[in-house]
Amino acid sequence: MAVILDGKRIADEILSDAQSRVEQCVRHGVRPKLAVILVGDHPASASYVRSKARAAERVGIATELVRLPETVSQATLLAEVDRLNAAPDVDGILVQLPLPSHISEHDVIERVDPAKDVDGFHPFNVGLQAAGRARVWPCTPLGILEMLRRSNLPVHGKHAVIVGRSQIVGRPMARVLLQEHATVTVCHSYTKDLRAYTASADLLVVAAGRPGLVRGDMVQPGAVVIDVGIHRVDGRIVGDVDFPSVEPVAGAITPVPGGVGPLTVAALMLNTVALCEQRRRPEGVSS
Ligand code: NAD
Repeated sequence: MAVILDGKRIADEILSDAQSRVEQCVRHGVRPKLAVILVGDHPASASYVRSKARAAERVGIATELVRLPETVSQATLLAEVDRLNAAPDVDGILVQLPLPSHISEHDVIERVDPAKDVDGFHPFNVGLQAAGRARVWPCTPLGILEMLRRSNLPVHGKHAVIVGRSQIVGRPMARVLLQEHATVTVCHSYTKDLRAYTASADLLVVAAGRPGLVRGDMVQPGAVVIDVGIHRVDGRIVGDVDFPSVEPVAGAITPVPGGVGPLTVAALMLNTVALCEQRRRPEGVSS
């Protein structure tokens, strides 16, 4: 029987820490502010934005929501990014992805001022992450790292296997775990014999976007299994890990829902405060 890693409880701890740091900034005359750009009205994106706004309100971070229609031109969207880049009171800018197909996500991400890049997706920040000098980590890998730390699950010297190499989860997760001294293997859709890798993992992070991809016979007994996937299947929310067959084998496992999702939102709050501390340097607050 695995320990169930309660993402909601750990996210609450992270949010309390973020709140203390916000209060310290406010005592020094600076309130951290997060701006979110939402294009169109995709229900999942709108729901993610609502949960981010709720978390910000809870910890005292000011928010500005910029809603643009699905048909907005790239020029108009970039002009909004420019406006937020220039706004002195905005610390973090988040462009909710995905964007409509007529807009280049690369162009938009690269337009965000790296000092306000709260998602850590700008190539300048990706370069700093790769160089071992990260100022900001993408929120899902940061949330996972915080959970591992707060659950006393050290990663140094462990074999960490990541399934998935997306820009938002798999690749930054690999950079985070390398920085934390894990031995890192990254698998993806071209990997031959996935099980040969997953079965040797001490820490297995699955972000493949394939419901139930990892089954119990693919997991080393006692491994820590982190399930990033989110899918609605037959009216239920499930992950990339087949929980019923993996839970009896693993040493610790995140549930879906209630695992990585809340941690991602909590990490966004940490990043917003950190960017505020770094850029505005409220007197007496160390960054
Ligand atoms: P993506 O589709 O961008 O990338 C998926 C990756 O998995 C690719 O690199 C691909 O090569 C790899 N892959 C696909 N099938 C595979 C297979 N059979 N074997 C090995 N590798 C395979 O996905 P993403 O944006 O990284 O998201 C992954 C999942 O995580 C999705 O379900 C997404 O909804 C979820 N997600 C959750 C959170 C959260 O906060 N909980 C955040 C981001 C993404």
